[in-house]
Amino acid sequence: MPKSKSQQETFLHPTPMLDELESGPWPSFVTGLKKLANRTHNPMVRGALDQLEYSYETKMGYWKGGVVGVRGYGAGIIPRFSMIADRFPEAAEFHTLRVQPPPGFHYSTKSLRDLCDVWEREGSGIICTHGQTGNLMLIGCTQDNIQNIFDQINQLGWDLGGAGADMRTGMSCVGQARCEHACYDTLGAHYKVLQRYNDDVHRPSFPYKFKFKFSGCPNDCTNATQRSDCAVIGTWRDDIQIDHKKVGAFIDQH
Ligand code: SF4
Repeated sequence: MPKSKSQQETFLHPTPMLDELESGPWPSFVTGLKKLANRTHNPMVRGALDQLEYSYETKMGYWKGGVVGVRGYGAGIIPRFSMIADRFPEAAEFHTLRVQPPPGFHYSTKSLRDLCDVWEREGSGIICTHGQTGNLMLIGCTQDNIQNIFDQINQLGWDLGGAGADMRTGMSCVGQARCEHACYDTLGAHYKVLQRYNDDVHRPSFPYKFKFKFSGCPNDCTNATQRSDCAVIGTWRDDIQIDHKKVGAFIDQH
């Protein structure tokens, strides 16, 4: 079988089943992971691909949870240990840091570049923007290095998001920053509410998780109705006001 383009470098091991996923019409996460591995030569990414190939062969998932955290926080890290670490030691641990996004996902290019630099240097380099939780997901690091990574990104101004039975990371639509449909300031509301509950984001004290989402209008671009516990959705306070005279004049003109 000819090698796929992204596998021509020798760094990666053969993954014939994963390669199949690159052949369809849609962008493939396999191609993305291979590109990252070939560019960074990070063994963790190669190990994750190898284990995934083995999962497809055996029709079985091999990640299990556990307890991993950073000092003072009881949430924000999603632990993943390999059940077959002896077979794929490069991916023995693959923990995820959930990082809180700014309201409306308003990042600056510099802030993202700085975050990526830390993550590629210290972790796997794999980022998911964004998970269904609304977090920036930094996927793939070891327990030994997690405090160091958190300290570095925290110095850059980032903070961890929620996980477990706590106040979860909030999410807001772009709102009045760019959208004419916004009926209230989703960004301001998101910021204020999550600042108020930030302690509960980091230290789970609820009987179950609780999530806020802020959509500026009933189009509900954040899927607040389906995906939150408290959906804050902007609506008109009254019947929609129409100046019929002006509308009539406009129609006459055109
Ligand atoms: S939910 Fe409404 S206000 Fe928010 S981005 Fe979507 S259309 Fe715009």
